[in-house]
Amino acid sequence: MIDLRSDTVTKPTAEMRRAMAEADVGDDVYGEDPTVNRLEERAAEIFAKQAALFVPTGTMGNTIGIKTATEHGQEVICEARSHILNYELAMTAWFAGCLCRAIPADGGVLQWAGIEREIRPLGPHWAPTGLIEIENTHNMAGGTVYPPRVVDEICDGAHARGLKVHMDGASIFNAAAALGRPVRELCAKADTVMFCLSKGLGAPVGSMLVGTTEAMARGRLYRKRLGGGMRQAGVLAAAGLIALEKMPARLHEDHANAKWLAERLAELPGISVDPASVETNIVIFDVSRTGRASAELSAEFKTRGVLINGINPLQMRLVTHYDVARRQCEQALEVIRDTVSVAV
Ligand SMILES: *Cc1c(COP(=O)(O)O)cnc(C)c1O
Repeated sequence: MIDLRSDTVTKPTAEMRRAMAEADVGDDVYGEDPTVNRLEERAAEIFAKQAALFVPTGTMGNTIGIKTATEHGQEVICEARSHILNYELAMTAWFAGCLCRAIPADGGVLQWAGIEREIRPLGPHWAPTGLIEIENTHNMAGGTVYPPRVVDEICDGAHARGLKVHMDGASIFNAAAALGRPVRELCAKADTVMFCLSKGLGAPVGSMLVGTTEAMARGRLYRKRLGGGMRQAGVLAAAGLIALEKMPARLHEDHANAKWLAERLAELPGISVDPASVETNIVIFDVSRTGRASAELSAEFKTRGVLINGINPLQMRLVTHYDVARRQCEQALEVIRDTVSVAV
């Protein structure tokens, strides 16, 4: 199977499996797992933040990040297609007790001017804004990258209003690869950043939250509440360290494969996609003119050994990653070409 559903499907490398087997471990709830501690130190260094917290999932990292910056009864401003609003089981409401104030933005990239209009002060009728949340890269907008200047403007504007900024940087290393700049420059002014070790970076499990020492100390308690107090988690952190140190350098290959696929999909009958909009490893393409629903195409691709999901009846999304080389991209393209040629 050529699996283009997500970069979460990547399997740990041989080097990761070896490191997991040999990891030095302790009880991380007591803060005594040397490998987890090393991973948290390295993440804080790489992001130029005071501290880091290893969490089992990106959803938990976002949930904790949002909780550390808000109080019950506030609003969290986010983009309309954001992961926190649409794919995290309403955890912003369930755990932090906040409402999401969704703002649609071109390419999923919010601008300070659009945010500023939606900020609500304390008053007799409305929930005051507690936090600004931005997603970089923006998953459902097709892996789009925030220009660093825009992030800085949002953070400066938010801070001037006494508000914090949380970055859902699940795929921040893809943004860094696309821009050719280190992650620390892309989120220098963000108060907290969550990123995933388990997606394009290839670790089997795990995400990180980075921020101030004070926020991470409180975050550690929220993590325990959420059931994320893991014991000998060093076996996971060992793979996470390799993901963090070695895997970012190869992400440009995934981006080249995504671009290559988008350029060729654009030439197929019934498919619409603008290759210029593909900045990282995600391609969202429209299949409405094939005359068939995405679910039907998805099922047919599957019978021919290719996994690609629809995101709605008219659009599909494919994600490139290190378990799919150019050769597999070529094979996937053949399958898509054959399928839609018959459909039209
Ligand atoms: C994958 C992802 C997450 C976290 O997902 P988990 O499956 O909980 O690890 C959060 N935000 C974005 C934008 C993502 O793509």
